[in-house]
Amino acid sequence: DSLTKSAVYKIATPEVDLKLDQNESPFDWPKELKETICRKLAEIPWNRYPQAYPKDLEKLIADYAGVDPGCVILSPGSNYLNTLTLSMFGKNLPGRLVITRPSFVLYENHCAYDGIEFTPWLLDEDLEYSPETLPDLPDGSMVVFASPNNPVGNTLPKEMFRKLLKDHPKTLFISDEAYYEFSKEPSTDLLKDHPNLIIIRTFSKTMGAAGVRLGYLLAAPEYIDQIRKMMLPFMINQFTYIAAREVLSDQKTLDGFKTMVDMIIEERTRMHGELNRIGKEKKFVAKDSGANFLLLRFECHDNCQASYSKLIELGVLTRNVSKGPSLAGCLRLTLGTPEQNNRVLEAFTQI
Ligand code: PMP
Repeated sequence: DSLTKSAVYKIATPEVDLKLDQNESPFDWPKELKETICRKLAEIPWNRYPQAYPKDLEKLIADYAGVDPGCVILSPGSNYLNTLTLSMFGKNLPGRLVITRPSFVLYENHCAYDGIEFTPWLLDEDLEYSPETLPDLPDGSMVVFASPNNPVGNTLPKEMFRKLLKDHPKTLFISDEAYYEFSKEPSTDLLKDHPNLIIIRTFSKTMGAAGVRLGYLLAAPEYIDQIRKMMLPFMINQFTYIAAREVLSDQKTLDGFKTMVDMIIEERTRMHGELNRIGKEKKFVAKDSGANFLLLRFECHDNCQASYSKLIELGVLTRNVSKGPSLAGCLRLTLGTPEQNNRVLEAFTQI
């Protein structure tokens, strides 16, 4: 019944020059790297199954994340891991399931599809995490949140997180860190002391690999063993496997991604300042962000809708998130290259 009532996930896809609506990286992979991957892909048989669970790739990811290989699970994108953990651990809890709001729409949508009940953890007036708005967490609860949070860009301060884990050892925390490289505040070091923590990440944003479809989950081995049972074998196809293995085995490429992340972070500071300057006249504000996007809030909802359409006319596609909870008048803008961002600024002066 909950499934028939809910709508299918849809996204507007008008043709534009600057597609800044999905928090993708503006940087594609180097041509030689793509050619190497294609060559390796052509050399292996396609009539054979890939590895059921590719241990060598798990090891490369474990090294990249700085954890033991026994703490890693791979999946075709991290969306899948978010929905799987909600369905596996979020149902019929002795405590309650708590999900941040506003946050990544997938969590609430999946709960609606799968008939999972939850209590929202509302961000405060400044759209920040606050322990004061956190619902009570009886033993056997579960908390799902993203840090940095999409579409807001706010992060859960490390000390607040550490305290939450310590104060609620019988609550499972799922930290979606799809954008963690942009905030430089990973929580992997918390895994060692807190077996009640699961971290979910993706190659889609920082690694410029949204098309490669690779996500991974980090947790204590007890959780890994349980989740592994629910993961179908052969989920990592040969293309994803070879592409990820090439990237992770090549320090030069990894360093290149780091440089790109640093450039986006610099651009974030610049764009935040510039957009707030333009926003004084156009009546919107840009919120600080720990991710590769900025949330813009317009004073007037109609002005937001008109600006969204006008920006498309000017060749800039943002994400209209204004229907989301506490997000009236809001657009989300993915950061691009410095040159793309200059064109975005020019467009904003014309809205
Ligand atoms: N988590 C968050 C917070 C996201 O914003 C996204 C992408 N929009 C994802 C997970 C999913 O990424 P993917 O499935 O491409 O790994």
